[in-house]
Amino acid sequence: METPGIVLKKEKLSERLFHLSLYTERMGKINALIRLELKDFPLSVEPFSLSIFNLKITGERTEIMKVKLLKHNVPKDIRKFKYLSLIAKYVDSFTGSAPEKKIFELTRFYMMNVKDRFLLAATMFIIKLAFFEGLFPNLTRCAICGSSKNISGFSLEEGSIVCNKCSRGNLIPWNETLSKETIYLLKNSFFSIKFCRINSLKRIRNLFEKHLSYRIGTENVI
Ligand SMILES: [Zn+2]
Repeated sequence: METPGIVLKKEKLSERLFHLSLYTERMGKINALIRLELKDFPLSVEPFSLSIFNLKITGERTEIMKVKLLKHNVPKDIRKFKYLSLIAKYVDSFTGSAPEKKIFELTRFYMMNVKDRFLLAATMFIIKLAFFEGLFPNLTRCAICGSSKNISGFSLEEGSIVCNKCSRGNLIPWNETLSKETIYLLKNSFFSIKFCRINSLKRIRNLFEKHLSYRIGTENVI
């Protein structure tokens, strides 16, 4: 079977054997093995590259028989490297059974087309990923009473905002403005955003990392 895919991670197992984590268009997230000759250093299997993979699947083992580079994506500086690593980590940690094609297109866009404004891009990516995965939190009404006013914070247990009256336990500080900003970022495209508040982006990204970690049950995100 043949599918386009993006390399999320590459690990060396032995002199010639490598383990790749990929996000593919046809199969979603997969792990695969590839044998490389000593002289080979193909960009097609480097992290963040977009390539066409020819896969041989035998039981639980997936082997890459052939690979053709479509577009390499070697980061030019440390900021771009950190951004791409973060996107790869989000995809690796937070994707599951959702339709693969949408997530593949989202990942391809945010990895291949973004050249700057990395905080905005990473925040928009995680918001949209949560939406496509069916894990978008309730940011419009209190989980307990349904009120949309006097929001006091976000409850990880409820996956929702909670108002002052119903507030109890540990809440992540949150307000109606942040909810509005999040929904605006969800509904719009990266290149159409002209203005955003850095402080809001940090808080939104932090909330989504915590929310998705809680929902998916991993804690291995920055
Ligand atoms: Zn309430």
